[in-house]
Amino acid sequence: MLSDAYDWIEQSLATIHKADWYRSVQTIQGRSGATVEIDGRSLVNFASNDYLGLASDDRLIQAAITATQKYGTGSTGSRLLSGHRELHRELECAIAALKQTEDALVFSSGYLANIGVISAIVGKRDLILSDQYNHSSLKSGAILSGATVIEYSHCDLASIQTHLQQRDRYRRCLIITDSVFSMDGDLCPLPELLDLAQQHNCMLLVDEAHATGVLGDGAGCVKHFGCIQRQLIQVGTLSKALGSLGGYVAGGKTLIDFLRNRAPSWIYTTALSPANTAAALAAIRIIQQEPERRQQLWRNIDELKLLLHQQLPHLKLLPSESAILCLLLPSPASALTAAHRLQDAGIFAPAIRPPTVPTSRIRISLMATHTFSHMKQLVDVLSAINIVSSKPARGDQQ
Ligand SMILES: *Cc1c(COP(=O)(O)O)cnc(C)c1O
Repeated sequence: MLSDAYDWIEQSLATIHKADWYRSVQTIQGRSGATVEIDGRSLVNFASNDYLGLASDDRLIQAAITATQKYGTGSTGSRLLSGHRELHRELECAIAALKQTEDALVFSSGYLANIGVISAIVGKRDLILSDQYNHSSLKSGAILSGATVIEYSHCDLASIQTHLQQRDRYRRCLIITDSVFSMDGDLCPLPELLDLAQQHNCMLLVDEAHATGVLGDGAGCVKHFGCIQRQLIQVGTLSKALGSLGGYVAGGKTLIDFLRNRAPSWIYTTALSPANTAAALAAIRIIQQEPERRQQLWRNIDELKLLLHQQLPHLKLLPSESAILCLLLPSPASALTAAHRLQDAGIFAPAIRPPTVPTSRIRISLMATHTFSHMKQLVDVLSAINIVSSKPARGDQQ
């Protein structure tokens, strides 16, 4: 066969298959809730980021329909040219009120918010310190900025302190971290990070994607840790607990004003659609008015942890302080097998493997709409399929 310039793609795919790293999509039929339908079967859904069950809430659906009827399907332009609507500003004010910040700016996704904000506030002469387990969008933003990027050991303050000895060689310094780590479920040491940032004249950016709506009365980790008054930059998504699509940054007035002038992933992209904007706005009102949803989510988290502890004490769980619980497995192949066996037994929970994470795992995310019997079913199936999980120690994760 003639070789051509695209042959490498097939070879690369073969390598991905060999490592058991190959991924493909699964079709979800109909609405996604505490249960989902896949291949005509109903499964209990432990794979959703819709922590409060709002993505299928009738009020969000109605808000999206009403906004679509009023404004149309597309926003037809970028915010600075012709795409800006009153709804966008209402949503930004609602986010700022929830976060108790001076202002906020919505992006078309959380990914775009991260790359836009990071690349706007630091550049070639600057230093970024980034947690090794940060979300891909933070890492991409760091690379895009052109700053010197140093990854510190996960949540390791001593490691940050060591790297901060180089601080003076750079103009600005930015520390970036997930607040709830998306593939592990643990929290960053926010108060200590804020102290370090202050002592060394650094900015701090936290990604509240998995904390907004879940922690700190719905406001996120910053409120959970009592750090609302501290100066920092918060980014997040409208697509997880808020059940819509889009991203945001919240912070001081001058920061937001600067970003409207300097964040390319906000300036040069079409404004968030009316439907997504209106759904997110409805979601924020619900999380403020219905704390019982969040309380139910936390009851579920505690109940599942207890069930796992009682029925499967040998299973190795990563330390978690969120709605994300990870069960460690010894290899990508064993994680895949476990996910398939869970699915055969009526449980939808994904295998998360390298290169997304250093060690393979089954990732369970809980929702307020899960019932006790959903969680009991998960634990019974885990017992029945007799999963062998690997060593837990977080230091061993490399
Ligand atoms: C999901 C996620 C994002 C991306 O948000 P999208 O709105 O889905 O693009 C960013 N950061 C973290 C930590 C996430 O988990």
